[in-house]
Amino acid sequence: MSTEPSPNNRRLVLFPLPFQGHINPMLQLANILHTKGFKITIIHTDFNIPNQTNYRQFTFKSISDGLSKTMADNVNLDTVSSVINFMNKSYIPSFRNCLATLLEQEPVACLISDALWHFTQSVADSLKLPRIILRTSNMSCMLVYAAFPVLDEKSYFKTTIQEEPIKDLAPMTTRDIVKIMNGDFEEGKLELISSMIKETKAALGIIWNTFKELEEPEFLAISESFQVPSFPIGPFHKYFTASSSSLLEQDRSYMLWLDRQPISSVLYVSFGSVVHMGKSEFTNMAWGLANSKQRFLWVVRPASVSDSEWLESLPTGFMEEVGERGCIIKWAPQQEVLAHQAIGGFWTHNGWNSTLESICEGVPMICSPCAYDQPINARYVTDVWRIGVMLDNMSEREEIERAIKRVIIDKEGIEMRQRSKSLQKKVNLSLEKGGSANQSLDSLVDYLFSL
Ligand code: UDP
Repeated sequence: MSTEPSPNNRRLVLFPLPFQGHINPMLQLANILHTKGFKITIIHTDFNIPNQTNYRQFTFKSISDGLSKTMADNVNLDTVSSVINFMNKSYIPSFRNCLATLLEQEPVACLISDALWHFTQSVADSLKLPRIILRTSNMSCMLVYAAFPVLDEKSYFKTTIQEEPIKDLAPMTTRDIVKIMNGDFEEGKLELISSMIKETKAALGIIWNTFKELEEPEFLAISESFQVPSFPIGPFHKYFTASSSSLLEQDRSYMLWLDRQPISSVLYVSFGSVVHMGKSEFTNMAWGLANSKQRFLWVVRPASVSDSEWLESLPTGFMEEVGERGCIIKWAPQQEVLAHQAIGGFWTHNGWNSTLESICEGVPMICSPCAYDQPINARYVTDVWRIGVMLDNMSEREEIERAIKRVIIDKEGIEMRQRSKSLQKKVNLSLEKGGSANQSLDSLVDYLFSL
């Protein structure tokens, strides 16, 4: 009889933050751990409910605070931290009850919670349940977040001084730090990040949707300053064809159009699931795309432009001007689009999922970060990995046009694409047997078994 430890009877409880960029990686992680033999229960809020038809192998438990559903319907970048702060208080009773009931029914090996659900540490402690966190962003971001008290003390968040490098926090600049707060400094944002850092340090481990080779120095710095075992097992979505955890319906009607376009000729444009923009930015984006004369596939999320349901703010004559060269849709199967050979660049807000998905397909980026981790990711893309250009000022159409040409047709773009392709190779190697992500996953499974 085999003496190998088998995780088959061990249940894990996973608790995603209810936003697209957090649900996707948590469900992908659930899939990965399920294939390693763990039983999975997902606790989710009563809004932004994951599509369960794609995950019949998991048990789902819904919890409610009776309040956040309405707030979350109107969430945007300016309000998201106050909504998350609120939820970290309002969900305590229902989460605790749900977890306690689960524990009465059967043993649970571990709670895996999104790092931003920081209240879950004290609940797990009170139920004597080990807690590991999933950090859906990268290590570089965590290090910058950990430096918030110092940055605040030096007033970096509030000043709009010239762009200068920040000592001891390379490659970040003063401008990036102001951008993290989206020009709207408020204590709530600091409070959220500092609670997240504190309860991350109290957790028994950190699972990262990144891979070691991408952030080698940051991995060492995290190990030193957090003193918690780290498991960089990403990119999650590359383990197997992911079941969709999309909250919005994905449009595939343009796939035939994409198939007809030349290799690396199309700019894919998407600013993720939360970013909103003003009319003038949107108009400038439209004219920048039209004037560049390049092909594009543009995701305009419904209600993501001020006072518009969808495309009402497009300049008159725009569609006629671009003709067959461009497609606009509401939501895409993004990972599939980025993997398409016709895609030559990605104009992104640099949410971490989007950034990582682009790296995985060797696609260079135009970086237009808005807030939170996005300016950090963008800075790494442009200055460290050198696979993109910064475009953080959308007030000049000519600058937009120029950035598009730099990435899609200029020599500079070809070089960025080559560097990006070499990172893509590193990703693939790290996932192979003996590669760094693969080894980290084995360590994680052993660790989960030992708890
Ligand atoms: N996404 C998608 N279709 C789209 C746009 C985005 O499926 O048209 C997915 C994308 O693949 C990524 C997630 O939505 O996994 C967005 O996460 P990210 O961290 O990039 O940004 P956020 O939405 O959290 O700002």
